[in-house]
Amino acid sequence: MWVEPVQDSGPTGIWEQRWHQAVLAAISTWQQVLPISLVSDRAQAQVLVERRKPPLRNWRASHGRAVLQLLEVQREGRWRLEPRVEVMISPGQAQPAIQATALHELGHAFGLWGHSDQPGDAMAVKPGARPVLELSDRDRRTVLWLQQQPGLSQPASP
Ligand SMILES: [Zn+2]
Repeated sequence: MWVEPVQDSGPTGIWEQRWHQAVLAAISTWQQVLPISLVSDRAQAQVLVERRKPPLRNWRASHGRAVLQLLEVQREGRWRLEPRVEVMISPGQAQPAIQATALHELGHAFGLWGHSDQPGDAMAVKPGARPVLELSDRDRRTVLWLQQQPGLSQPASP
């Protein structure tokens, strides 16, 4: 995973620093259930987290979006198909809202493309009154179930 780095670490960069802290907090929550390595070279990443507002879709604005692509990449001399997910997290929100948005959109990046109908879940279809900053038991069980599906643990054949 690659996260857009902080460009301005001084006092004028306070908003991008807060965005970065909120995104890292969401990543560490996911690290309780999944192995995630952060890389500084974005070309090496399968998940890219960018600090920007997603473009309008169907004339509606949103604070976060995850977009899946399938790429042919070369790893250790062999070409293979790999998913790459671009996650856009808007900086124009309060810090807890950024963290909740990141937690939700990262869930999509890790394969949870569906939504929950329970407002206390990170993967709830719409945000509830309070930002969800932790994974619920349902979120955890869903991602563990997904990880156990056949075919996901095998590398793609050439
Ligand atoms: Zn969603």
